[in-house]
This record gives sequence, structure tokens and C-alpha cells, in this order.
Amino acid sequence: MNIIVSACLLGINSRYDGDSCNSEGVKALLKRHNLIPVCPEQLGGMSTPRYPSEISAGSGTVKNRHGEDVTLFFMKGAEEALRIAHLYGCKYAILKSKSPSCGHGLIYDGTFSGKLIEGNGLCTQMFINDGIKVYTENDEFLLK
Ligand code: SF4
Repeated sequence: MNIIVSACLLGINSRYDGDSCNSEGVKALLKRHNLIPVCPEQLGGMSTPRYPSEISAGSGTVKNRHGEDVTLFFMKGAEEALRIAHLYGCKYAILKSKSPSCGHGLIYDGTFSGKLIEGNGLCTQMFINDGIKVYTENDEFLLK
């Protein structure tokens, strides 16, 4: 099965700080599935490293730590990631938890204080709206 996956979970150094969020559990799925790595923020044209960003609660806009509105980069990246998901016929995605692009169920609240609120990242929401089933690296049942 083709599954679209946040690139950072596969050890790609795509994170805002130039690091990855390597997950051996997710990588182990390579034995059984084709994992397609995407980083929506890079696909949207953002540099790596880059300033961390969060969705401003209630507004739907994404701002970086310096208050710059980066929503358009995030939207473009989500659209490109969805294009790749379609290209490979992906019905499932495994996306990095808490990220303003890839988070599922919980994201940071936009105050850069570490506080989590209910919500999805922009890319996650676009995938869900398109009918793609989204999991995170923490959905252990998936990783067994
Ligand atoms: S946008 Fe998604 S794939 Fe890219 S570094 Fe952030 S969590 Fe990982």
C-alpha cells in the first residue's frame, strides 16, 4: 500500500530547526508498505532551518515566532502534498503530531508557550477534507 508520511518521521532533516523527528516505528512500516515522504512546509517554499510557526487559535492564520504571517506558504505546501498523495493514490497518511502543518487532533495554540489545543495542522485538515485517513506516529496499533 502507498502511504504518505511526514518526511521528518522518516529521518529527513526537514524540521524547522534542521533536525528530524525520526521514528523507528514508522520506518519499520517500510517492510510492508511504500512510504512516500513529504514535508508540506518545504513544499510550500519555506527554508530549512526556518523560524517555528504556529496556527493562531481562532484565526486560522499561521504566524512564525516573529509575528510574520506565513499562511500562504503553509497552504501551498498542503496543496502540493495533497497533489503527491493523489499521484500515488494514497488513502492513508501518517503525519507528525502537534505540527502546524502535520498535527492531528492536537496542535500548539499560537502563543509559542507549549500549550496544546484541539485542532489539526493545515495539511492534515486538507487531507481529511479529501477523504484521506490520517494517523500520527503515536498511533501504536498502526505500527505493530
Ligand atoms: S511540516 Fe510536517 S513533515 Fe515537515 S518538518 Fe514539519 S512536521 Fe515534519
